[in-house]
Amino acid sequence: MMKEKDEGKESSSSLNDMQDYVGFANLPNQVYRKAVKRGFNFTLMVVGESGLGKSTLINSMFLSDIYSNEYPGPAHRVKETVQVETTTVLLTENGVNLTLTVVDTPGFGDAVDNNECWQPVITYIENKYEEYLNAESRVHRDAIVDSRVHCCLYFIAPSGHGLKTLDVEFMKRLHDKVNIVPLIAKADTMTSEECVLFKTTILNEIEHNQIKIYKFPDFDTDEENKVHRAMKAWVPFAVVGSNTLVEVNGKKVRGRKYPWGIAEVENLEHCDFIALRNMMIRTHMQDLIDVTNNVHYENYRHQKLAGVGADGKPGAIPNKNPLSRMEEEKKEHDLKMKKMEKEMEQVFEMKVKEKLLKLKDSESDLQCRHEQMNKSLEQQRQELEEKRRIFEKEKIVFESANGEDSFHRMFVDTNSKET
Ligand code: GDP
Repeated sequence: MMKEKDEGKESSSSLNDMQDYVGFANLPNQVYRKAVKRGFNFTLMVVGESGLGKSTLINSMFLSDIYSNEYPGPAHRVKETVQVETTTVLLTENGVNLTLTVVDTPGFGDAVDNNECWQPVITYIENKYEEYLNAESRVHRDAIVDSRVHCCLYFIAPSGHGLKTLDVEFMKRLHDKVNIVPLIAKADTMTSEECVLFKTTILNEIEHNQIKIYKFPDFDTDEENKVHRAMKAWVPFAVVGSNTLVEVNGKKVRGRKYPWGIAEVENLEHCDFIALRNMMIRTHMQDLIDVTNNVHYENYRHQKLAGVGADGKPGAIPNKNPLSRMEEEKKEHDLKMKKMEKEMEQVFEMKVKEKLLKLKDSESDLQCRHEQMNKSLEQQRQELEEKRRIFEKEKIVFESANGEDSFHRMFVDTNSKET
């Protein structure tokens, strides 16, 4: 009995202890477990002229052959127009699932006239926002798949001369729609000094053209901010890609082997690949997703909803006074009607012209046939005339040869025989 009492005391004291502990400190674990169970979605877009090493870099980055089976090699890709192609792979690391979608844009910058070649890219990004917005507006919103583009790696050719007009135009048109991370492709083709100079030139041009590339967020602790300041110093990341392993000091590493040495992909002294991969995957993937959701998608959503009252189309048209809207619509309608009227008149005139032409043709045809008929009648008349003339002649000859009487007798004989 005594023991029971003690036990009761013990449990009530531990309950008292528990009262100090509400339990919300355990929330991060719950969020963590839920997030791991759900898995993560990340969509990465790669843009740049063909041959800059986009597919090689993506394969190097995720240590898998993302482009191996479904994706045609560079030589087979369509070059005349910009295409948007997606490849999705499920990657697993320590029980965490990442559904990675790589969006490529073969043909970008490859045509003679690259005007508007960013349009298919913009359309793709906005379509994904639209899909997400529609999914959010449904009754059941639990299983929304986030296929919005979270990051766009923009490949700059290692020319050493700065940005091309196309680079500037593309980034300016896309910077408020997606997180742009600029890269210098094939950095192994430049010396270290050239690379540093090229980076400075690019950054100056980005600033001069007021292009907003992805900005690293400020963090709470000095330690974290120190890491971020170091990270910022890499931009634009000068990268090298390779899908082959070479041997360095008895170790197999990803690299490009040249007669004069080896450019190691995962060596920070050779290129910024590791810095880029760490930033994108280890330290800033969630921030890229958050900025996409809170800034770019919000922009789109705001514009879209502001335009709904007007015509329901995304973005462009803000809400207007209904009367002035009606007035505008009436004007548009009148203009449309006038245009239609003009077109119909043109068609009518064309038809009348065609008919007149046909009538003229058939008239001259008739005239021709009439003349031919006249000619043949005249010919027949002349032939008959000739026959009559011959007959007259023969008659005269016959009469003069047999005499008038004998002819008469012959006529009577014939008559009497018949009676
Ligand atoms: P994409 O058309 O942009 O996807 O380019 P690919 O990845 O198909 O690469 C085109 C060519 O460039 C291939 O021959 C690659 O081996 C080569 N390449 C890829 N990355 C690099 C790099 O970092 N440096 C050099 N020098 N060549 C590269």
